[in-house]
Amino acid sequence: MAIQKHDNLINGQWVVGAHYAPNINPSNIADVIGDYTQADAAQLDAAVKAAQAALPAWSTGNIQARADALDKIGTEILARREELGTLLAREEGKTLPEGIGEVSRAGNIFKFFAGECLRLSGEIVPSVRSGVSVEITREPVGVIGLITPWNFPIAIPAWKTAPALAYGNCVVLKPADLVPGCAWALAEIISRSGIPAGVFNLVMGRGSVIGDPLVNHPGINAISFTGSQGVGNRIAQQCAANLKKVQLEMGGKNPQVILDDADLAQAVELSVQSAFFSTGQRCTAASRLIVTDGIYPKFLGAMKQRMAGLKIGDALGAGIDIGPVSSRAQLEQDLSYVEIGKAEGGLLVAGGERLKLSAEGFYLAPALLTDTTAAMRINREEVFGPVASIIRVKGYEEALREANNTPYGLSSGIATTSLKYASHFKRHSQAGMVMVNLPTAGVDYHVPFGGRKGSSYGSREQGRYAQEFFTTVKTTYIAS
Ligand code: NAD
Repeated sequence: MAIQKHDNLINGQWVVGAHYAPNINPSNIADVIGDYTQADAAQLDAAVKAAQAALPAWSTGNIQARADALDKIGTEILARREELGTLLAREEGKTLPEGIGEVSRAGNIFKFFAGECLRLSGEIVPSVRSGVSVEITREPVGVIGLITPWNFPIAIPAWKTAPALAYGNCVVLKPADLVPGCAWALAEIISRSGIPAGVFNLVMGRGSVIGDPLVNHPGINAISFTGSQGVGNRIAQQCAANLKKVQLEMGGKNPQVILDDADLAQAVELSVQSAFFSTGQRCTAASRLIVTDGIYPKFLGAMKQRMAGLKIGDALGAGIDIGPVSSRAQLEQDLSYVEIGKAEGGLLVAGGERLKLSAEGFYLAPALLTDTTAAMRINREEVFGPVASIIRVKGYEEALREANNTPYGLSSGIATTSLKYASHFKRHSQAGMVMVNLPTAGVDYHVPFGGRKGSSYGSREQGRYAQEFFTTVKTTYIAS
């Protein structure tokens, strides 16, 4: 069968870019999902100009029409969750149930923001001057550049696109070049939703080629970015130089604290889920397991036993717990961090080796290192794979100190049956999201998402808090 070609969506037209790049299945590298066109700077410029041209009508248009279009997009995504979930599992390597879950999340996000189109409100407040009244309203920011990573190929494009459109902005979406399939499918659904040409544009390609032209384009009013800290830092500086609004969601080195009084079975299950499910490729994954002395031997034994039972294989295979790493480069990075951890004095007690299965893919046995300390690179740098390390501590105070001893601050978790420790941890954890007896990864779609310190910059994404970024406030004074 001929490999299907997929083009960029610019001003309502499907447009061929400079060349095509193959989208490869990490479970089986002989499987090419499709060819995806790669934009150059000129095509990026055309997309921004199309968005600029569409902005006046869209930003002031009928909100019922906006809500109907977003609702229609959400309905179609949900109706096709199995098919799109299969595409997602095939291109990114999440298991099929995880892929279907992510697609459902994307559909629900569009439904949520369909409702938000009708809920944007302002304030009328009395003036300190007699005979004057004051109105505070929210307006769209303009044309927004959305830059997304490979690990959530449909949920992140959805959680940026849906609020951007709901609040009346126009969009240029640049998805990760490793996984363009789901973003292309989303663009195709949007192209049939009744949203006018130019309001939403898809431009696929490498960050090194079209990243700078997008971020620095004078027609772009704001950038919403999710990805690595290095790229995020650079984008923040470029936006500051051009006085553009910017929002960054970046990496994590999330701690999972296990206290002596934890329910052992629950603590093991949520640690395995946090650290290794979705192949550890979640910004909210727990890569540092901070375990107190009293439970340490039992916890370690139970972890090794649970890990030995994990099924690693083709993301589409039945009963698979963990799919492949998403790319060769990421696999090499994961393996190199296992070696770094060992060289620093860590003890590899489970996994950490490449697995050869019947098809050639990027399979890695989830790795667990013990005897690690907070100062080691393995506990300070984001690996972004199924690699976790244990830090053994004496008690709760030390556990909290180590949990916060990181340049990141996205998500954190505690396993305990003590209300006192759970409440204290909730208050004193330096993270944007705190989980009590739940995995550090796995969040709702209608509430704010984001972190502190090196994990996030700018206002929160998702839920009603998304309006902070995707709108700008106007204060109007009226003589009465
Ligand atoms: P990445 O930074 O390499 O790439 C992210 C996006 O930026 C891609 O679309 C890429 O093409 C683009 N890009 C690359 N260079 C660019 C440049 N110079 N200018 C503009 N854009 C450029 O990240 P990744 O490897 O795709 O994703 C993994 C990272 O994402 C991890 O650090 C992970 O923690 C993070 N992440 C964070 C969250 C969150 O919400 N905090 C969620 C998911 C992933």
